Amino acid sequence: MSAPDLFDSLQAPFIAGSDRPITGLPLDRFLPPYYPGAALNWISSRAETSSWVLDPFGNDPFSALELARAGFRVLVAANNPIPAFILEIMASSPSVAEVGEAVLALANSRMSDGSRLEDYLNSFYLLPCPQCGGQAEVTGFIWSEERPEPVSMQWLCQRCQKSGELPGSSEAYQHLRPLPSYPLHRSRALELVASLDDPLRPVMEEVVRFYSPRALILLQILLNKINAPDFPERQQKILQALFLTTADQMNQLWTYPLGRNRPRQLLRPPSWQETHPWQAFLRSRALWQTDLPPVTLRGWPDLPPQKGGISLFRGRLRELNPLPDPRSMTLVYASLPRRNQAYWNLSGLWSGWLWGKESVNPLRHSLLRQRYDWTWHSQALAKVLNQLPGLIQPQTPILLQIGELDGLFLIAGILAGQAAGLRLLNCASDGSQDTLQCLWGRGGVPAGSSQGNLAAAASEAARAHLTERGEPANYLSLLTQIVVSVHQQGLLSSPPGKTLNDHQEELEACLADTDTFVRFNPGIAPDTGLYWLRQPLIEYTPTAERLETTLLQLLRAKPDPTPEVVRQTANQSCPGLLTPESELVDAVMAAYADRLPDSQPGWLLRAREAPQIREKDLLEIRVILEQLAARLDYSLQTSTEAIHWVSRSGSVAHSFFPLLSACVSPLLRLFSRTPGQKYFVIPASRSNLVSYRLKRDPNLQLLCGESWHFVKFRQIRNLKEDMLLTRETFAERVLEDPPEYQRAQLSLF
Ligand SMILES: [Zn+2]
Repeated sequence: MSAPDLFDSLQAPFIAGSDRPITGLPLDRFLPPYYPGAALNWISSRAETSSWVLDPFGNDPFSALELARAGFRVLVAANNPIPAFILEIMASSPSVAEVGEAVLALANSRMSDGSRLEDYLNSFYLLPCPQCGGQAEVTGFIWSEERPEPVSMQWLCQRCQKSGELPGSSEAYQHLRPLPSYPLHRSRALELVASLDDPLRPVMEEVVRFYSPRALILLQILLNKINAPDFPERQQKILQALFLTTADQMNQLWTYPLGRNRPRQLLRPPSWQETHPWQAFLRSRALWQTDLPPVTLRGWPDLPPQKGGISLFRGRLRELNPLPDPRSMTLVYASLPRRNQAYWNLSGLWSGWLWGKESVNPLRHSLLRQRYDWTWHSQALAKVLNQLPGLIQPQTPILLQIGELDGLFLIAGILAGQAAGLRLLNCASDGSQDTLQCLWGRGGVPAGSSQGNLAAAASEAARAHLTERGEPANYLSLLTQIVVSVHQQGLLSSPPGKTLNDHQEELEACLADTDTFVRFNPGIAPDTGLYWLRQPLIEYTPTAERLETTLLQLLRAKPDPTPEVVRQTANQSCPGLLTPESELVDAVMAAYADRLPDSQPGWLLRAREAPQIREKDLLEIRVILEQLAARLDYSLQTSTEAIHWVSRSGSVAHSFFPLLSACVSPLLRLFSRTPGQKYFVIPASRSNLVSYRLKRDPNLQLLCGESWHFVKFRQIRNLKEDMLLTRETFAERVLEDPPEYQRAQLSLF
């Protein structure tokens, strides 16, 4: 293999799916964000349908289902019973009718006092309506961390159709029906997961503290009914599924007012919302029911049909038995699990509730150790990846995705692959840097010689990245480039005792070198602001200009591209870590093309952009500028790029650079020393792109400084009509109607 090249590994384009992740899926707040099409597109670039894909982590059930539906056969090894259960139920595609029937059967089941379960659960939430005196219902309680009781309750009255919030008080709570015994239900909830003498018991006692007594009692009553042998097997599974998502809705990890709720640790937010259990149960229906076709799912070693399906192994990858024939696996695909203490602890609790103590066994080890630091997590990932050589052939591609990318997850993931004897072949991130697609191969990297090289290699990697990008970069791009480069040079080591935070500090240290890097809008932490080079190369092309050139070529070759083609072309021209954000892609496209209506999504190059029309515009602008010079008594110096207005003293007062694109960097460079005011004269349709670029690229802003300006063609045409124009008014008038960034212009269509 040749010497590692800093850029080679970053020449693969990011292969995108949908722009936004889908929400409203079971427990999606704990699972990797699911971008429909992302896994399928990535895998289809390397494997034929009906080939076998191995998912060693079983942490991404929605992608596994997507692959199976597209005709792949997926062997999923899932150590955690919760995502395995989600996979099983979602593969069976519960229909609206099936889910509805199951809920009705449960709602009608009888309590010992003869009441229906639904009425019984609701009875604890009834109170006199503060408006009409009828019967209102509490829909939720709001808690705050300083108070032992809810600070308020939200209510809704079906009779007068009013709703509101009542301040919490002992008096207010006296109106509510008293709950059954808490100690009894709490001990039952614990007993389902771990016996009194089990070392896991104190761990689970901590976890149930994230349920209020009310929530815990009523959940146990609900669970008890579901686990009773009254229901056919299929119906019971559906009810268990709905219970699982109800159990998540009832815990104290829901920030109030509702914000982004993706908890990673068992920590109560300052203020949280506790919902109504039966309403949560009913809401759960929408999370599970689907009209997608079912996927064949069998337990390993039973095989799904050739036309696609899933074989599920419940357990650790190293316990996989029998082993698959390594020749059968075409590739490995997984979304790396994120370190998530809340998810693992709750998974243990819920598994015990639903399937009893035995089912918690696969999670026991990690629950007992309660180590959730990144160093431990990286080692846990490596243990799984270590099994791969026995399951696949030497040349089998290993596609590992890191979602919700951040510095520590990145380092943990790369170190894990390296520790498992793998070598990172290439990687690419999406434009918003949420996801990193990593292609690994078997065969480690040779260890480097000394630690001394690490700092130099890190600095070189960061410089190379900025040069390639031609624009300032954020911390995460630079760190990713650094980690990838030092891994490939064999310089990423993990001696015992060194934590992942130590690693991160060591790898990012070079960025503090102010002789090499400058930083725009810095904060105290190294991950704020944008980095750029103290002494950039004389010639470099900003990513935005590379993208504009490429997309314009695309439009000339194909005037009506689909959004997918635009995205692919963009990502190919800016591969690896340079993937442009969708706002930039849209700004470039909107500079030349109109967005088609949603019924036939795509773009259409404007008729105005025909080269002969634009050449005429350029000529017209040059003629006007020459006429204006004469009127204002300037002499002219012209070249292909520029028109200079020279005053009688011989000094250049104004220079104009009419151009058709926003690719201004070459001119900025060539004419940086030209005195006087300098104007890029551009079509008005480019002005939004220019403004967006100035907003995102502080280096461009700096280079433009006080002396460079952007002027629209139409302003030059206006000046031609202004018969009162003087030298004095010109300087002001030419800058009227400057380009302004309008986000709405891009996104309102
Ligand atoms: Zn009322």
